[in-house]
Amino acid sequence: MSDEVVRFASELIAIDTTNASDSGGPGTERPAAEYVAEKLTEVGYDVTYVESGAPGRGNVIARLTGSDQSRGALLVHGHLDVVPADATEWSVHPFSGEVRDGFVWGRGAVDMKGTLAMSLAVARQLKRENVVPPRDLIFAYVADEEAGGLNGARWLVDNRPELFEGATEAISEVGGFSVTTGDGARAYLVETAEKGVAWLRLTARGTAGHASLLHDDNAVAKLAAAITRLDRHRFPLVLTGPVRELLEGLAEMTGIPFDPDDPEAAVARLGHLSRLVGATLRDTATVTMVEAGYKANVVPSTARATVDGRMLPGREATFEAELATVLGPGIEREYLFMPGVETSFTGSLVDAMAAAVGAEDPGARLLPYMLSASTDAKAFQRLGIRHLGFSPLRLPPELDFTSLFHGVDERVPVDGLRFGVRVLDRLLRNC
Ligand SMILES: [Zn+2]
Repeated sequence: MSDEVVRFASELIAIDTTNASDSGGPGTERPAAEYVAEKLTEVGYDVTYVESGAPGRGNVIARLTGSDQSRGALLVHGHLDVVPADATEWSVHPFSGEVRDGFVWGRGAVDMKGTLAMSLAVARQLKRENVVPPRDLIFAYVADEEAGGLNGARWLVDNRPELFEGATEAISEVGGFSVTTGDGARAYLVETAEKGVAWLRLTARGTAGHASLLHDDNAVAKLAAAITRLDRHRFPLVLTGPVRELLEGLAEMTGIPFDPDDPEAAVARLGHLSRLVGATLRDTATVTMVEAGYKANVVPSTARATVDGRMLPGREATFEAELATVLGPGIEREYLFMPGVETSFTGSLVDAMAAAVGAEDPGARLLPYMLSASTDAKAFQRLGIRHLGFSPLRLPPELDFTSLFHGVDERVPVDGLRFGVRVLDRLLRNC
């Protein structure tokens, strides 16, 4: 397992599964899906290989039957696609999968081919040993997460829900990684909540005409004023359950008191983590695209902008109302909402995670946290499947892990992968 995980991570990275488009179409996942299917078939799994309507969008699902059919199955899922990488910016080729200086390098090393390599290595080991786990395990390797899963998790949930029959809980990205406090104590952060997404299209309308004339009804100027107001707006601070539990837990570990009336002070002390946790203290709305005009001397009648909104779970309606106030009248708004997810940090699966981590890293503790970004958890939640972000990785204290996601020189420590595969193996035998 410990050698397989490194080899699989490297070989999966070397299969370029760049997901370049936000609007669907043919995909690049098929060779990676076939690679995974072959590795599973080789040890005796019955594998379902399925593509959405779009060519190349390969998804692979396999089940290992457990001893207690009265218990819900555990879904272990991950995505095969990666975001683009510009080779000229990297120290190694992003699709080399090179193993160097104790790291596996390349696009997808942390997001999330390293994790796929772990689940693949463990799935094979369990099968080779004829292990009957306590509950059914469903291993899923899916396409298109980086574009919202319309040809991956979302498509499977809508079109092939029977593949996930009986599943009540799931583990996947983004959690299970270690953070080290100043005195060297380690905590592993488990994702128990995810912010919701609101993709918002704004349209301002005005009077078209020759740009040399006087204009007091300019769509471009109206839109610019509205998005400037939005950029300056700060949504209210809301201390949610998972963030409070994380900050309280870290305060206990470090001895630095946590004042619930001033969570920003506590977040500011978190080093690398502060960007991630800071984004879960409030809603955000960030302008990402602007589109207006077609000629220098023509005032266009419309101007459009796209806003990436992220709301704390349960705040969709409040967010929408607040945005209406900030943008003001005369700005049309079209929303695409994906509500956030949240679960408790309790139960037998959490206990099994703590036991698995504790066996490999005695004295470490598990803490919940909220992810500011979005994963396939939102799709699987529609089948009633509870999500916990847990792909265990022990990381060197100095590594700025969160910056590696979609970043240049993405890489994952070889020791971290070997640690992770041992923890995952223990977890899946005892979940
Ligand atoms: Zn990911």
